[in-house]
Amino acid sequence: MSRRIPLVAGNWKMHMTSHEAREFASEFCSLLVQGDAPAAEIAVCPPFTALETVAQGFATSPVWIAAQDVHEQASGAHTGEISAAMIAAAGAEGAIIGHSERREAGETDARVAAKVQRALGSGLRAILCVGESLKQREAGETESWLATQVRVALADVTADQAEGLSIAYEPIWAIGTGKTATPEIAQEACAHVRSIAGEFVDANAVRVLYGGSVKPENAAELLAQPDIDGALVGGASLDPVSLMAIARAA
Ligand code: PEP
Repeated sequence: MSRRIPLVAGNWKMHMTSHEAREFASEFCSLLVQGDAPAAEIAVCPPFTALETVAQGFATSPVWIAAQDVHEQASGAHTGEISAAMIAAAGAEGAIIGHSERREAGETDARVAAKVQRALGSGLRAILCVGESLKQREAGETESWLATQVRVALADVTADQAEGLSIAYEPIWAIGTGKTATPEIAQEACAHVRSIAGEFVDANAVRVLYGGSVKPENAAELLAQPDIDGALVGGASLDPVSLMAIARAA
């Protein structure tokens, strides 16, 4: 039987001031105590400026906090960047790494790999994002592309680090577009990601999430797939009621 507990993580991207984030946390905590506790783990990934506020807002709840990125160096002359130690000191436990919006801005597979190392080596959890473009899918390159992204990112990850690792399969054509992958497409890609990850870590232990226009209406069907262990949610995570509905669907 699988030992994997589902994870629903909300990526707020460049939304939410500290003030708005505090209100979100307070509303979400009220929802948490109404009705059954969701079986899924829940994480919220605010912008750096709201990390500490959100960590405080969720301090007495099981919700954990992740940053949306982390620098690969421990410290130094890297203007505008944030280190793993700073993220941890703000009360967060993890970081998203290699989101397609950062890869589009020039982040390479090698840099993603270094960030994964830094995060896991510093005791943070890592939510590694991988995914193909529509052009790659139409050219039949999805499997090889995902395999390369996963292999480069996990090259130096040790088996005992797998516990802190989740991999989010996020087809670029489904992010923020309203076009969700069908459950079959998402399942097939997540199973592939899991099998490639299994070259480095225990495939049964690593969580593979799906991300791309997940909403309360489509979450249950996606999360019912055997290789989908949760969701990375963008737009719908900005509304506490929607994020809770997705977590309860998991
Ligand atoms: C994301 O940003 O990781 C994402 C999946 O966004 P959305 O849910 O809005 O498609």
